[in-house]
Amino acid sequence: MRFAAAFEAASQAIRRRPKFSRLLVICAIGAGGILAYADAKSDHSFDTPGTTNKKKLVVLGTGWAGTSFLRNLDTSQYDVQVVSPRNYFLFTPLLPSVTCGTIEPRSIAEPIRNIMQKKGEKIQFWEAECDKIDPMNKKVLCRSNVCTNSDGKGEFALDYDYLVLALGAKPNTFNTPGVVENCHFLKEIEDTQRIRRSVMNCFERACLPGLSDEEKRNNLHFVIVGGGPTGVEFAAELHDFVTEDLAKLYPTVKDLVKISVIEAGEHILTMFDKRITEFAEEKFQRDGIDLKTNFKVVKVTDKDITMTNGSTGEVSVPYGMVVWSTGIGTRPVILDFMKQVQQADRRVLATDEWLRVPNCDGVYALGDCATISQRKVMEDIAAIFRVADKDYSGTLTVKAIKDVLKDICERYPQVELYLKSQHMKDFVDLFTDENGNALKQSKELDIEVFKKAVARVDSQVKMLPATAQVAAQQGDYLAKCFNKMKICEEQPEGPLRIRGSGRHRFHPFRYRHLGQFAPLGGEQTAAQLPGDWVSIGHSTQWLWYSVYASKQVTWRTRFLVISDWTRKFIYGRDSSCM
Ligand code: FAD
Ligand code: MG
Repeated sequence: MRFAAAFEAASQAIRRRPKFSRLLVICAIGAGGILAYADAKSDHSFDTPGTTNKKKLVVLGTGWAGTSFLRNLDTSQYDVQVVSPRNYFLFTPLLPSVTCGTIEPRSIAEPIRNIMQKKGEKIQFWEAECDKIDPMNKKVLCRSNVCTNSDGKGEFALDYDYLVLALGAKPNTFNTPGVVENCHFLKEIEDTQRIRRSVMNCFERACLPGLSDEEKRNNLHFVIVGGGPTGVEFAAELHDFVTEDLAKLYPTVKDLVKISVIEAGEHILTMFDKRITEFAEEKFQRDGIDLKTNFKVVKVTDKDITMTNGSTGEVSVPYGMVVWSTGIGTRPVILDFMKQVQQADRRVLATDEWLRVPNCDGVYALGDCATISQRKVMEDIAAIFRVADKDYSGTLTVKAIKDVLKDICERYPQVELYLKSQHMKDFVDLFTDENGNALKQSKELDIEVFKKAVARVDSQVKMLPATAQVAAQQGDYLAKCFNKMKICEEQPEGPLRIRGSGRHRFHPFRYRHLGQFAPLGGEQTAAQLPGDWVSIGHSTQWLWYSVYASKQVTWRTRFLVISDWTRKFIYGRDSSCM
């Protein structure tokens, strides 16, 4: 909000006073120069990995979680090696804008070596893919995609003391036949380039001589499967591209274009507030985007997409291009690792609240490749009672509960969420007499009363969403833990151990939700901010621009993204088929 207000004030000043704008540009260049100098001035001392007696830290992945971890890590304390098949960080929230040429691909990619250089090159990067994690021998086996060893395979192994898994996830097809062969995904930069080319090819094909109207219509039928934030944003972006740019360039076929969104659930954007869902559905209807809810796709061939619905049964429709965006699944290397750490029965790798993989020394997992398995209060109820019952009397006073309250609330965040949901101020509000009155401080409670009072607390345990926001906060959190590893070994800062003695070394990870956006096209965006504050419309679009500009990881990409937006406003989007 502050950024938006400052941005608005600056643009108003520029409009009123052209001289001010020149001054602003000079100041900006000056500030940029200082920043560039600060960026370039780095300590180039560099230890070859494996030659120091520092602990070996291997990081897999350079996405939101991995990059946030590396940027915040004190690299002087560890012998750090990074493995990723992608030698750049990708700003994924702007991927849908790249599909239609609003943003250029290079504007949202920052070379990981640039980011590392700012840390004094104390990190070694290997452009390779991890094929296997071997927790027994504390090794990862990797394979380079860009070169081969003398044995022709390009394989190598890395030892670790600590391993940070930040491998992200893969698109989920639910094993629907024909999806991999015939649909586009929207996950990597290469996907956006393929989609952009495919959209333009559909238009060029529809313009070829000798095609019937029906054939043209089929070529210009764009289907998006999945009504989540990514699918909806892509549909909106494509609609804008067609109406604002392509309609002028392809006037003979512009009326034959159709965009369909297929969603298995009853509504689109179900993770958002109902007001946003309703607004989005109405806007799509006004824009002529065909919304097919309650339809499940069962098959995709090279020409048709087949879906089914309780009332219509199976229907097949011809298409020009399909984009598949129905959520994420676990990568094979993580599935294999899960089998080795007794998690074969789970869908996603689970960690504890400190992002540690249980029963696996020195291995941490964060971002989309893992989920935090929050411990339930009821599982630990007897132990919690024992910790609070300091005089071993078998009963607890309200005062005794209050003494351990801070630790309980920190260890089990669902307690606070439950109190909030019940409009209670204090944990002890849970304990009342038969008439609903607060208990006296000295009143003794036995374990059964204690159990009954906290029985419903676990209903508030929530899984964190697979978003960049969560991944980046986890990376930041874990780096800070690594930075104070030695200090906290001697002086633990975490809550009391409920099953065991002493304190946990660190505070557990706590997610702070900062709100989320749903761009809906036509320069309109919906935002759901903390406290269920909803804002929709053109002003929110400006908030979106300012937040996404400010969230860029370097000044270089920030400048490129802002200049791409400016270029689009002046010249429109590029429609060349490259
Ligand atoms: P990723 O960012 O996917 O990074 C995974 C890394 O692991 C990559 O560097 C990859 O190359 C590497 N890797 C993969 N396999 C291997 C291997 N075998 N060995 C070594 N390295 C490997 N979230 C939001 O909060 N807001 C948004 O607006 C938003 N919009 C999105 C739009 C799109 C189109 C998409 C696809 C996602 C969006 N997300 C958004 C979600 C967000 O991008 C993810 O939640 C986030 O990227 C997860 O971060 P991560 O680090 O876990 O994984
Ligand atoms: Mg007691």
